[in-house]
Amino acid sequence: MKKILAIALICMLTLTGMAMAETLKMGTNASFPPYEFYDDETGEIVGIDAEVAAAICEKLGCELEIVDMDFDAIIPAVTTGKIDFGMAGMTVTEERMQSVDFTTSYATGIQVVIVKEDSEIVSVDDLFAEGTNHKIGVQQGTTGDLYCSWDIEDEGLGTVERYKNGTDAVLALTSGKVDCVVIDNEPAKNYIAANEGLKILDTEYAVEDYAIALAKDSELTEKINAALEELIADGTVQAIIDKYIVA
Ligand code: GLN
Repeated sequence: MKKILAIALICMLTLTGMAMAETLKMGTNASFPPYEFYDDETGEIVGIDAEVAAAICEKLGCELEIVDMDFDAIIPAVTTGKIDFGMAGMTVTEERMQSVDFTTSYATGIQVVIVKEDSEIVSVDDLFAEGTNHKIGVQQGTTGDLYCSWDIEDEGLGTVERYKNGTDAVLALTSGKVDCVVIDNEPAKNYIAANEGLKILDTEYAVEDYAIALAKDSELTEKINAALEELIADGTVQAIIDKYIVA
């Protein structure tokens, strides 16, 4: 009898051990299509980042849990260990590299300007013209916020209105609270498709590299980076990007 109990116990422990693969928590801001957004039908967070992260976790034999948060909460959540990594169309910057490590870049982003179709702002340079005083909408804590703060607000050429996410910033534009929105190009395309009367200016503000952010000197960085590099090399990442971004 004792033997049977012991065997049953071992079986149970093995099964729970197998069922409990390590879970990696990814922090993101799911208002940034096509990189991360809620699927209307399933209510799940989907997009390029969600799928690349899922492919990385599959390679590492881990479960993936996606945690939605404000964009500017992601890096603090990484540094305090609340999440294992941040993946949110996040641009690699010198400033962020002071607090987190970045993987190899897996995509390129471009900061663009969204305006109303009849806007008197016709080029990015109009934002920096002497004597102008525009209200610029940005997502708080993003590179768009940083650049506009430096180039426009600090120079006395306008004010920067900071919103929690791209959806709110674009809503401020359609309702006339701001004159334009500075945001990454792929979400911008999605926003103008979803809102009538908006357009993206032809001139680009800045070109950037997206990468995954991890805690400094974390053991995970090497593992995630190796998996990501394999997925870039074998074309998986490009296939995921092509699924969401139709040229
Ligand atoms: N690429 C921009 C940044 O890293 C915006 C990212 C985002 O809003 N999800 O600041």
